[in-house]
Amino acid sequence: MSMTAPPQTAPSGDRPLDVAVVGAGFAGLYLLHRLRTLGFAARAFEAAGDVGGTWYWNRYPGARCDVESLQYSYSFDEDLQQEWTWSERFATQPEILRYINHVADRFDLRRDIRLNTRIVAAAFDPERALWTLTTDAGDVIEAPFCVMATGCLSAARIPAIAGLSDYRGRVYHTGDWPHEGVDFTGLKVAVIGTGSSGIQAIPEIARQAAHLDVFQRTPNFSVPARNAPLSEDYVRHWKSDYAEHRRRAREETRSGTIYDFATRSALAVDDAEREREYAARWAKGGANFMHAYNDLLVDEAANRTAADFVRARIRETVADPAVAEALCPTDYPIFAKRICVDTDYYETFNRENVTLVDLRETPLEAITAHGVRTSAATYDADAIVFATGFDAMTGALDAIDIRGAAGTRLRDKWAEGPRAYLGLMSAGFPNLFLVTGPGSPSVLSNVLVSIEQHVAWIGDCLAHLRSHGLGRIDATPEAEDRWGEHVREVAHTTLYPRAASWYMGANIPGKPRVFMPYIGVNTYRQKCNAVAAAGYEGFVLSRTAAAGNEAPRQRGGRHAS
Ligand code: NAP
Repeated sequence: MSMTAPPQTAPSGDRPLDVAVVGAGFAGLYLLHRLRTLGFAARAFEAAGDVGGTWYWNRYPGARCDVESLQYSYSFDEDLQQEWTWSERFATQPEILRYINHVADRFDLRRDIRLNTRIVAAAFDPERALWTLTTDAGDVIEAPFCVMATGCLSAARIPAIAGLSDYRGRVYHTGDWPHEGVDFTGLKVAVIGTGSSGIQAIPEIARQAAHLDVFQRTPNFSVPARNAPLSEDYVRHWKSDYAEHRRRAREETRSGTIYDFATRSALAVDDAEREREYAARWAKGGANFMHAYNDLLVDEAANRTAADFVRARIRETVADPAVAEALCPTDYPIFAKRICVDTDYYETFNRENVTLVDLRETPLEAITAHGVRTSAATYDADAIVFATGFDAMTGALDAIDIRGAAGTRLRDKWAEGPRAYLGLMSAGFPNLFLVTGPGSPSVLSNVLVSIEQHVAWIGDCLAHLRSHGLGRIDATPEAEDRWGEHVREVAHTTLYPRAASWYMGANIPGKPRVFMPYIGVNTYRQKCNAVAAAGYEGFVLSRTAAAGNEAPRQRGGRHAS
């Protein structure tokens, strides 16, 4: 794990920037590399003290990825993927961060990254066709193109709970964890939130703390990870044909991840066979469980069979029947919220030093000076860990004052829900690209696959503009509206909208309920490729003073007026 910021060397050359990149996580780093390779002058601006994005901030105990490490990694460089050695099936946060740092060094990216630099505003000047970015130190950066590589789960959120400012103990958020780590030994700890982060952190904190109170509002479904060291055989199997595995993930799967995909309905087999299949997948571990049958996310009756299986495992694992019942989700389909993947989560509730507080029975009323008060009791706590998630997909963008060609603020435009054509560009915000933006597969995918696809598409688009002497691209409102409708329609062919999830913005009071991600990495890629092949259909491409002061030109997209 890189704890200290590396020296920041001067950027390559004094060329004016072509592209300003916001963020130096997985997306920002690959953007820098790809844009450089294409001959663009690009620089990334990163709020953190080092590279890594979400893996820089989320250092809570137990943090690890639940996409297998051999798949949750870059595919763009064969030598890189052959040479890097992952130690475990599901990599820990420190290992992933080491990998990211390795990539930054290996491709000499740091000289074009400005760390400790938060972009607070970005405005497009239509006269000069330039984005002007302002940093928190008041510095100004200009570039004709800007790419927001700000991440989907990067705006950590502590809910507004009465009394929080009176609390005298220590306060942590899983998504903004102290770099020096936290020692909970001997402490009374409260964890609020039982999503993926809470479910990973709770067993680890329970092992240290004198006592742990877990405050659960909505139970989540979780499947065991069965994490283990990677065997040499397994690694050899992947690496012997890495390119083909990557191609399959990209082109043939909806999530960008290879699982053992079933081809039949859960209702096409008898109870005993179904039970055997679920049990085999449960024993194997991981989100592979979701793919036991091909209709688990579209058919309610099929879905119920998987939910019943998991609830049976919870009841079997948790000794106290009342606690087990409280841990069983009952009011939304399994997989409609992000499935959690755990190590010893349900078992943790059999520990003497762990108490589950069911906030549905006894709502959280306030934080007091010394702990957490519900309608039934007050729980003293030396430390409160908020595992309360993120303002997902739009939070990091909303935090920047982004103004488009007519001075409109992006966050105002998105007041009723985010709108972006292909999740890549929002109409009225020319030359501003989003990586894994709302309306793209993003959080419903292996995000590395989505990032690589977006970065490649953006790079190709910029190269296309350059080679045609064009300096400006904007999505048309019509294309954006049609795309938004398509995203909605696809979502509604599934059970996803049946859950009040963060995919819908449901975790943020007042946030519009719009299903934000696009379902289907494979079809999405085809659509993006088709749009580009048709001369950037649904976009307006035009010349600018800088790129050649001629009349706007039709490149498949519409003429600018
Ligand atoms: P999350 O899934 O949004 O979970 C937040 C938790 O906090 C929920 O249990 C929520 O309850 C609770 N909560 C929020 N506000 C609350 C309040 N005012 N009072 C009481 N409880 C409150 O956030 P997360 O766990 O950080 O995970 C977010 C996403 O990050 C995941 O879904 C996943 O995509 C990603 N992630 C992945 C991994 C991994 O790869 N293993 C690990 C961590 C995170 P309600 O459900 O009732 O709102």
